[in-house]
Amino acid sequence: MSPVIPIRQEKTSGCQTPEVVQERGQREVFCGLTGIIWLHRKIQDAFFLVVGSRTCAHLIQSAAGVMIFAEPRFGTAIIDERDLAGLADANEELDRVVTELLERRPDIKMLFLVGSCPSEVIKLDLSRAAYRLNTQFGSSVNVLNYSGSGIETTFTQGEDACLAAIVPTLPAKNNKGKKLLVVGTLADVVEDQFRNLFNKMGIIDVDFFPPRRSTEMPSVGPGTEFLLAQPFLADTARELEALGAKHLPAPFPLGAMGTSAWLEQAAKSFGVSEKTFEATIEAPKKRALHALAKHRVELNGKKIFFFPDSQLEIPLARFLHTELGMHLSEVGTPYLHRRHLEAELLQIPASTRIVEGQDVDEQLDRCRADAPDLVVCGLGLANPLEAEGFTTKWAIELVFTPIQGFEQAGDLAGLFSRPLIRRLKLVA
Ligand code: SF4
Repeated sequence: MSPVIPIRQEKTSGCQTPEVVQERGQREVFCGLTGIIWLHRKIQDAFFLVVGSRTCAHLIQSAAGVMIFAEPRFGTAIIDERDLAGLADANEELDRVVTELLERRPDIKMLFLVGSCPSEVIKLDLSRAAYRLNTQFGSSVNVLNYSGSGIETTFTQGEDACLAAIVPTLPAKNNKGKKLLVVGTLADVVEDQFRNLFNKMGIIDVDFFPPRRSTEMPSVGPGTEFLLAQPFLADTARELEALGAKHLPAPFPLGAMGTSAWLEQAAKSFGVSEKTFEATIEAPKKRALHALAKHRVELNGKKIFFFPDSQLEIPLARFLHTELGMHLSEVGTPYLHRRHLEAELLQIPASTRIVEGQDVDEQLDRCRADAPDLVVCGLGLANPLEAEGFTTKWAIELVFTPIQGFEQAGDLAGLFSRPLIRRLKLVA
């Protein structure tokens, strides 16, 4: 019998949001270590030391590709069989690895000890290790810890765990004025575009978290209002709220309409006039709509099925449905944070099957029965599904590619239209 547990259907402001069913079964999702790939590119003076096994080392090395241009900013302190058998003092070994690393790399200003399945199995207390190392090296480097283990986290949850670990160390905001904080890793080019738009509207005090350098951490406190740039930051948002920051609920900045609505929430809260807001977004929004039009020809009316992977699935489904006319067959997501996704769910047809969690065999059966035109899934499922004749899109690309904002709307649509066009060419 399928372990599908229906949860209550909720109504908001008279509008109906789709029913969400939960599945608990075998999952096919990366662990949270994957987040290191984009986090190490963003925070340029940070180092991510995975305390894990050779499997963990292989995962991040193969996901990141070979780094030949710079000294890498992630590595693995290997826990071997001796440690697993409790024969060696893993703490001593960790201290030795960190000491060597920091002596060799004085450019490292923030060091993350990243927990893994093996470090959890041997119950290595990384928060105590971080405290101990901060006492030793605290003047030159800030040592923090979080878990990216496959037992505790999936894929993008690694970023949430990392940012949530930083928040309590952020400087306190020492004035009563309002400031805007954009939360979630964005490509530098996207960050620059958003900063420019906010400044044009007259919102000058705006910070991005995480910043490009650990020495540029934003201050937070009452008066901070934050927009989430990513839908998978539940713990980070909770930590920010604990410091007195206020969340501005909005759809996520995907597509022309999503980006407009996201910017508008900030504009409203910061007292920007409608005229200034419209004048600011007019030209870039027009460019986005123009870029989307050619992809709409390919995607309109096509059926799409999402396997759970990045937690971006619900905002992406909303974008593909409302802006490109795609038909949503099933939208799977590893976790669904209802409060953060409410504005998205209201725009998804109530008949859409939304599934939180996964039972991969059941889901594969539903996918085959639905016969979608396009399947969004992880790397492990893509090849077998292609072999069965499905057209697939790797979910991981959606995390590694700059997709937010007006200027990226066309590229985002292209990530979905290209596999369909390629398939058409292959069968022609
Ligand atoms: Fe595998 Fe766990 Fe290491 Fe992730 S943390 S690579 S799931 S052993």
